[in-house]
Amino acid sequence: MKNYTDNEVKEILNDSVDAIFVVSSKEDLYKSIKISKRLEGFVEKEGSYKELLKKLCFHLSDNNGNITEEYQVFLPKIGEFNGRVAQKVSLIIDGENHLVQMLAYPVKDSEGDYVILLCDLDKTEYERNVLAENKVKTIQETYLFSMYVDLNKDISSSINVSEISNDDMHYDVKYSEWRMMIVNMFLPEDQEMFLKKSDPEYLKSHLRPGKSFSFDCQMKNLEGEFIWVKLIFGRTDTTSEQDFRFVFMVENIHESSLQLFEELKKFENLASHDALTGVFNHGRIETELGNAIDDLKNESKPLYLMMFDIDWFKKINDNFGHAVGDDVLKEFVKCICDKLAGHNIKIGRWGGEEFVCVCYDLEIEEVSKIAEEIRAFIAAKIFDTIGNMTCSVGLANVNKNDSVKDAFKRLDEALYEAKSNGRNCIAVRLI
Ligand code: GH3
Ligand code: MG
Ligand code: MG
Repeated sequence: MKNYTDNEVKEILNDSVDAIFVVSSKEDLYKSIKISKRLEGFVEKEGSYKELLKKLCFHLSDNNGNITEEYQVFLPKIGEFNGRVAQKVSLIIDGENHLVQMLAYPVKDSEGDYVILLCDLDKTEYERNVLAENKVKTIQETYLFSMYVDLNKDISSSINVSEISNDDMHYDVKYSEWRMMIVNMFLPEDQEMFLKKSDPEYLKSHLRPGKSFSFDCQMKNLEGEFIWVKLIFGRTDTTSEQDFRFVFMVENIHESSLQLFEELKKFENLASHDALTGVFNHGRIETELGNAIDDLKNESKPLYLMMFDIDWFKKINDNFGHAVGDDVLKEFVKCICDKLAGHNIKIGRWGGEEFVCVCYDLEIEEVSKIAEEIRAFIAAKIFDTIGNMTCSVGLANVNKNDSVKDAFKRLDEALYEAKSNGRNCIAVRLI
């Protein structure tokens, strides 16, 4: 082997290192001693230490360094090193992926001064790392946060924030402090629940050893968008009642939550709509009226009901069959809905060939006009297969002291009157 001199070795080391910074975490400053050509465009020669950390440590972000404010609470912690630390960071430099070894050395007897070295590793090292990390990354994308907590000592350790870094963060933080650091990441209306359920006393009294509980809420990701997450608290399985060690995890459930909400909406729709005609079903339109009456108690507003009933519908079934009857019902409802468009009117199938409308914000003259338009339109329309048919209409007002039953009774009486008056007409009941 060649006899290397100290200087030669220093030169080799110097050549192998891509950047050397001296930093003061206290003054939020860094200065570069050296920056290689490869990293030249990536960092400025000097500036704010926090900005440097953002570039180095928030490397999973693909939004060009725009980290949402709430996550910046981690910066001071990330930038504090109690001893020598080596960490691999993946950076995007000039659009290319680089794996960089970062070494941080605290300066002896200083108050938060460090020397930080960066070595841009070779491409093959990067690729090897990517292969190994892919598996881990899938897990990390599912679990945004994870950490161990000991409530007795008020510490949380081995914190991993996958939004920020692949590696565990090299710091311990008091659990009580940590709660306050992340509370602002939650949707404002979820913050109270987070504080209640993450409270040490709450956890101690609600979680048996070996058990876990979770709840869903919305939390900001690095880009600042609220996503659905599941917060999971799991207590260590221990025989000691006084052992309050926990694992805390935040699982990203955004996609599946959105899917679930869509499913729930579908079921809610199914449960509240009539399968044949697509309008509200009996129960739903009844609820509609119940709610409308409740609102009347707070604010006096005009509220009317209309009921449409096809005349001699039984004959249509008898003459043309049930299937044709069904088609007629669908077409009938479609015609009514077209005429209701633009008004604040809710329609539901009361039963068979009877349809009820709850009419908001309209005076009796306007409601009568709409009812008459529909009656005349139906009477003039030529339906497929059956040709002409007519309908009768009942109109009634709703008072704030009415029960749902009272209001429908009045409406029923109005419809009965229209039928008695010879059908294909409107009758009104006002009290
Ligand atoms: P009126 O003018 O007095 O209202 O006479 P009507 O024949 O229309 O009234 P009635 O209540 O005697 O008959 C209603 C008919 O509606 C009886 C029933 O077979 C039919 N019907 C109820 N639901 C459906 C349905 O979903 N599809 C079909 N095709 N017919 C239905
Ligand atoms: Mg009828
Ligand atoms: Mg009827």
